[in-house]
Amino acid sequence: MSKRRVLSGIRATGRLHLGNYLGAVKGMVELEESDKYETLYMVADLHSLTTPYDKEKLQENVKNVVLDYLSAGINPEKSTIFIQSQVPEHTELFYLFSTVVSLARMMHLPTYKEKIAQHPKSSTVALLNYPVLMASDILIYKAGLVPVGIDQEPHLEIAREIARKMNATYGLDFLEPKRFATKGEYVPSLTGEGKMSKSVDGSFINLTDDLEAIKKKLSKVPTDSGAGDMLPKEGGVATLFTLIELFQGTNERIKYEEQYIGSGIKYSELKEKLSEAIYEDLKPIQEKRSELESDPEYVDKVIKEGAEKARKIASETLKEVKQKMGLG
Ligand code: AMP
Repeated sequence: MSKRRVLSGIRATGRLHLGNYLGAVKGMVELEESDKYETLYMVADLHSLTTPYDKEKLQENVKNVVLDYLSAGINPEKSTIFIQSQVPEHTELFYLFSTVVSLARMMHLPTYKEKIAQHPKSSTVALLNYPVLMASDILIYKAGLVPVGIDQEPHLEIAREIARKMNATYGLDFLEPKRFATKGEYVPSLTGEGKMSKSVDGSFINLTDDLEAIKKKLSKVPTDSGAGDMLPKEGGVATLFTLIELFQGTNERIKYEEQYIGSGIKYSELKEKLSEAIYEDLKPIQEKRSELESDPEYVDKVIKEGAEKARKIASETLKEVKQKMGLG
């Protein structure tokens, strides 16, 4: 029996942060390590164009995501790492998919409304169509499992709807892709409001941040007096508790929660320990990254071979879809 395929991607909009790492990349590494899956991981450069971007920096950002993948432990011997725009079949299939999606469905998506609110001048057709291209990214490999953060769930629902519609209308055999959830499926912002995001200043810690940078960023997380009758469910303190759970474990989190209800927390000490725990996890990734940075030819080879492997699968699916849709 052939292996179940896995597809995931990250936009090339800047350095990866803890949310990308815990919500997506850790799941990508976990699935790659299992023998049950064939894993394909892309850099979603086309998706990066849906919000304002710097064209002079795009290539550098693309390379940085590849470097982040490799340094976080993705192994190109096991996974196909590729750049979305180097597999043009994605955009052709995207167009074919767009014929089975209603405009109303896309316009009412909460993720679309959020992005428009963040970037009022970016209300483009490309942004509206983002989830249809994402459906194409996944279904072109007939992938059934997608390691992404919980914020992507509404987009996966669109992919499932498209799979059902294409199967029913044209007799195709697309799987309905499911999200592979990690413990860090939602990493909150350091500001205490919303999720950690590349596009929100002061919200994130990058995978490349050193101990001093992490300390500085955590020192800005808003806190309170350190004690209360009830544990805060949102805000900076809730963010700190989540990060403690993710980097220091449940027991540490419970210890701090008990302190909060009891004698009180000293945030300076808590932030110091948390900074060290985060840095401990990032240090090996950063060491691997500096090794890879000194070998750009290797990285270029990974990208070239990845595109070739991905195109082989993608072109077969596209051919099949075109035939079934009457395009010859
Ligand atoms: P993006 O940077 O929007 O392309 O996101 C890349 C991946 O990181 C997607 O799988 C997202 O779901 C995931 N991700 C982004 N931000 C977070 C976050 N704050 N918590 C968990 N996962 C996230």
